[in-house]
Parts: sequence; C-alpha cells; structure tokens
Amino acid sequence: EKKQTINFGAGPAKLPQSVLFQAQKELMDYNGIGISVLEMSHRSSDFNKIMKSTETLLRELLSIPDNYKIMFLQGGGSGQFSAVPLNLIGLKQDRCADYLVTGTWSSKAAKEAEKYGKVNVVHPKQDSYTSIPTSSSWSLTSGASYLYYCCNETVHGVEFNFIPDTHGAVLVSDMSSNFLSRPVDVSKFGLIFAGAQKNVGCAGVTVVIVREDLIGYALKDCPVVLDYQVQAENNSLYNTPPCFSIYIMGLVLDWIKNNGGVDAMETLSKKKSSMIYDIINSSNGFYTCPVDVLCQSRMNIPFRVGKAEGDEAVEKKFLERASNLGMISLKGHRSVGGIRASLYNAVTVEEAAALASYMKEFLKEHQ
Ligand code: PMP
Repeated sequence: EKKQTINFGAGPAKLPQSVLFQAQKELMDYNGIGISVLEMSHRSSDFNKIMKSTETLLRELLSIPDNYKIMFLQGGGSGQFSAVPLNLIGLKQDRCADYLVTGTWSSKAAKEAEKYGKVNVVHPKQDSYTSIPTSSSWSLTSGASYLYYCCNETVHGVEFNFIPDTHGAVLVSDMSSNFLSRPVDVSKFGLIFAGAQKNVGCAGVTVVIVREDLIGYALKDCPVVLDYQVQAENNSLYNTPPCFSIYIMGLVLDWIKNNGGVDAMETLSKKKSSMIYDIINSSNGFYTCPVDVLCQSRMNIPFRVGKAEGDEAVEKKFLERASNLGMISLKGHRSVGGIRASLYNAVTVEEAAALASYMKEFLKEHQ
C-alpha cells in the first residue's frame, strides 16, 4: 500500500487536496463549456470571469483598498526584482532606493536594482542572515524612491513580524513566501508582490498589488511586459497571461476563504510552526535553529541536526528516515545545508504534528 506523502517543500509547494481534485474534475471540461482552461482564449468571457473572480477574492481576503491595482504577471519573484526598480526608482529625481538585506532574496533584489539606479543598504552589513538589524541602526536616505524588504526570507527562515517605518517613503515588500498567511494592512505599502507557488498556487503567476499613484514612472528602457502602467491599463492582458496558474490561484483563494480567511491561516501557521520550534528548543542542542527568536519564520524553519553547525551524517540519516515515512523535500537550501521544513497554508496541522513526532522520536534514538 502506498504511504501518504507529506510535502514540506519550499516551493513549488503543497496545494490543498481539494484544489487538486477540483482542477482534476474540471480539467477536460471547464464549467460545462466543453474545453479545458488550458485551451481557453485569455480574451474569452469565460476566462475573463476567472480573472475577475480571482481578483475579487484577493481584494476581499486582504481588504485591498480601491486605490490599489492588482496585476497577475509572469517572470516570477525574480522578474519583480527587476520590475520594481524599473517602475519605481524613477519616482524621485535621485533615482535611489533603500534596501533591507536580510537574506538571499532581498540580496538578489538589491543586486538587480543596482542596474537601474543607486542602491543603499540601510543597515550595517550582517555576518549572517539570522536576524533583522534593529530599526534604530537603519539610516534611511532622504529622497529615496522607496524602501524595499523581503517579508519572509525563504532560504534563511527570517520573517518580519512588523511593518518597517519608512518615515513617509514608499514601502515595497516581497511577500512571496508568506503571502496570505496572515492579515496585512495593504494601505501601509506602495507595492506588494508575491510569486504564487508557495502559499497561493502553482508556479507561473506573480501577484503585484500597487498603489495607483505610483504607476506611470517606468524608466524608458523598461520592457513593456514589466511596465506596470501597460499591464494595469490592460488588466494584465497586454500579453497572454499565465491562464492556468491564475485559475489555480483562484481555486486556492476560494479554499482560503472557505477555511476562515487569512486570520485562520495565521492562527494555523502559529500552531504548526510552534510545534516544530518547541521540539527544537527543548532538544538540548540536538536540533538548532540559527535564527533570532524575534524573527523566526512561521513558514520556513531551517534547522541543523546533531550539533549547532550540523552533523552531516546524522542529517543524512534524518532525511532518509523522514523520506521512508513519506516526508519529502525537507533538505535545506543548497546554500545553507541542513534541514528546512516549510509549513505553508496547505500543510495541515496533522502533517506538522507528524513531523514533530518524528523529530521527537529521532531525538530519543540519538540521545
Ligand atoms: N522571493 C522569495 C521570497 C522567494 O522565496 C523566491 C523563490 N523561492 C523568489 C523571490 C524568486 O521567485 P521566482 O523563482 O519565482 O523568481
């Protein structure tokens, strides 16, 4: 008999089972129209309804104010590393932007932005990505076009539990890996983007939520598909959008709504992640998470096994045994090693509990 597989992958990641069933049911014949969403014109009225309802659901789930545009774009989170400076760095004459660099993804974003303007990392350089530099150490640039940060660093497991104070400057956030895992006051942001393949769907679509008055400042070399003004005016249909990924995202948003919305997702994320942190914290150093307790991520938990810097032989065994139990994709990112458990919205409390109980057992055997 096939064991049940539990997917702790960092993205693309687990989708709710009911979403997969529905997509399967509708795959050959969407809503009785005789064709699949995969075959449908992006300009058809049926696809238009999918786009509209997906946008409406998202607006509702995050209480997105009317003066924000929502776009469904291609190019991934990495595409937005370029699109953000291409569209926003020209907001102010100086063409400079402030960045918080708290891990791999914000570091990549800052590096990309350097192609288009001046980038200031606002805090002292960190030796490792295990904490968020205290805001009293930040020195924001006056005249900066925006302040950028990554709300949850997927590789390093560093998550912001506060919204940075920009002293009036435009705030931009990459929420790819904690999107819709808790409520967010969108009105505090100039722009939020998130790739769908972690918390809200499959790869292919990136959500961009942008305040209307920030649209229209793209540099003249900005590629047309990345130009927010062009995409916003065309309701993300300037070119063919990732139709099927948008459809899947709609199904996931519906699932979030039916399961209590973002408040419920937050409660569950705390419950799931505490189960794992509790074991780590009570393991007398057998399991170690290098991240400062103030910013330990609810979504991605990186940890080492055997000793603080990780005992690779023990970690190998940990992963093998986990895989025999059906728990997959627990290997840490290749840049940091060790283990990483990702507990996105679709991962159930029972699945997190199964990992916790396996960790407890493994600890017992190795003590
Ligand atoms: N930002 C974050 C926080 C991510 O985790 C990732 C991907 N893991 C990206 C950006 C890049 O996304 P993509 O691979 O879709 O370009």
